[in-house]
Amino acid sequence: MGSTGSIGTQTLDIIAEYPDRFHAFLLTANRNVTLLTEQALRFEPEYVIIADESKYAELSANLKGSNTKVLGGAKAIADAMSIADIDMVVTAMVGYSGLEPTIEAIKHGKDIALSNKETLVVAGALITSLQRKSATKIYPVDSEHSAIFQCLAGETHESIRKLILTASGGPFRTFTKSQIEKVSVADALNHPNWKMGAKVTIDSASMMNKGFEIMEAKWLFDVDASDIEVVVHPQSIIHSMVEFVDGSVKAQLGLPDMHLPIRYALGCRERLATDSRKLTVDDYMNLTFERPDLDRFPMLAMAYEAINRGGNIPCALNAANEIAVAALLGEKIRFVDIPKYVRKAIDSAHFIENPTYDDLIATNSEIRAYTSTIIK
Ligand code: MN
Repeated sequence: MGSTGSIGTQTLDIIAEYPDRFHAFLLTANRNVTLLTEQALRFEPEYVIIADESKYAELSANLKGSNTKVLGGAKAIADAMSIADIDMVVTAMVGYSGLEPTIEAIKHGKDIALSNKETLVVAGALITSLQRKSATKIYPVDSEHSAIFQCLAGETHESIRKLILTASGGPFRTFTKSQIEKVSVADALNHPNWKMGAKVTIDSASMMNKGFEIMEAKWLFDVDASDIEVVVHPQSIIHSMVEFVDGSVKAQLGLPDMHLPIRYALGCRERLATDSRKLTVDDYMNLTFERPDLDRFPMLAMAYEAINRGGNIPCALNAANEIAVAALLGEKIRFVDIPKYVRKAIDSAHFIENPTYDDLIATNSEIRAYTSTIIK
């Protein structure tokens, strides 16, 4: 799901790297017909689905005469999760849109290679309880969570003392508050280490991404947020660490290349041999670490607040952030305005301690509408 995005295209690289092992059965995209057409002709999936129905006719015309069936609409994506031939679903779409199809995939016992962290931010309790009742296994694609997953191989849950999530610190790591006041969208999109989609790149610059990753780790590994520490590590070579009860710490290292965690997730923990560039001593001779600064990065502070309040507040935080980031990308607001709008939006949310799925849908649409209104 999300085959034309950054993780989607890199997942197809891995599928192409091991043609005897993997086949792309179904590809979905939001609206990029041109790339989805190219992917369909190259990978010959049984189905393609374009979420934006206004693009259906064009995609259908492009693939006339091929063996790939063409469908349109978000509902078709969720419905397709019941197809028996699908073994694993890679959730690589952007933001809240990942929630419904991920729930459907879990209900049908599909394994998940989880890239869409917003799913766990919005509905971690719901997803986790559904997963416990199903045959689904979740393999993290997010590099930090893949690192923790690798560190936990062969360990018991009782032996974990804390998780240490590393953060690059983004392009504004060394900026003062007054320098951050002046940054442009282009500055925020210029990540020092990782090539990623626009949404997650902006979230990295604000450190919202790291806040979301604390929530993602809490749900994936069943660890209290108070036992998850964030450490800024500008080189992005150590992808995260786990401290155990005996005082020992395991870290996972690698180049900042998303193909690595995707390979480990698709391999279901089996290590697949590759000829891609290896880590050398030049890459790791100068590794440094710093404490995060909540004063310069208020989105990270708001994430801690949302974690402490719980209920539907992380869902509200995500909704407000999605609208604010879209407004920044559309050059309607400045980077430094994001926390101001998100603060107001969270304060407008009415608290629900144990939200149902319908409550989350309502919170998401109310907070989106509210944030859009105050931005205009
Ligand atoms: Mn990450």
